[in-house]
This record gives sequence, C-alpha cells and structure tokens, in this order.
Amino acid sequence: MTPAAPQPTEIKLSDDRILRIVWSDGHISRFSLQYFRDQCPCAGCQGESDIFGEVRMPVQLPVTKPGKYDLKHLAPVGNYAIAAVWGDGHDTGIYSWEHLLTMEDQQGGDKTAADSSRDG
Ligand SMILES: [Zn+2]
Repeated sequence: MTPAAPQPTEIKLSDDRILRIVWSDGHISRFSLQYFRDQCPCAGCQGESDIFGEVRMPVQLPVTKPGKYDLKHLAPVGNYAIAAVWGDGHDTGIYSWEHLLTMEDQQGGDKTAADSSRDG
C-alpha cells in the first residue's frame, strides 16, 4: 500500500477572499480566488491536448467577465475533488485533491503549518 494522500478536512472561504483548506496531515493551503480560478483544471481554461500532444488554448477574450473571480459555490465530488461554481457561470472546474496540492506547490513557499499563526 502507498501512504494515503492527505485529504481536506475543512475548506473555508474567508472574508478576505482567501480559500483556506485544512488538510488531514495538518498543513493549511491558502489560495486567493483569482489564483484558484486561474488554475481551473477544466479543458476550457487549460486547453485540450490534441492527438499530437499539442495543447490548444481557447481564444481568450480581452475582457474579464464580471464575476469571474467570485466563487459562488463549492460542491464535493465523490471523496476526491470539489467542483467550483463561479459568478460568471463557469462550473466545469473539478479540482481534485491532487490538483489542489499541485497548485499549492506551484504557488510556491506559502505553506503554513497548522500550529503557527492559528487564527481559528
Ligand atoms: Zn475552467
């Protein structure tokens, strides 16, 4: 057996628009909503690979739709992911725990141990 990957034990949106995820291994992830949306894993946001492995990005409109960074709802998907619904109606982003942990790594050096700066 491989060691179990950490799972969120608590996901909360704080008043300052920071999504805070407490993991079963005790560490806490913090994502700004803008970062969270920009990391949306769906094909429409990240592009789809064609059979030759090229990633085709969707056409980007120059204007950010109103509500793009307003998180309306988070819904659990099985026990492996959450689905995000945004203010602009975008609801196809399924964030697996693995994706969240990757996002955290890419965000870079902003991990906070659960036992420091406790704000609960
Ligand atoms: Zn998306």
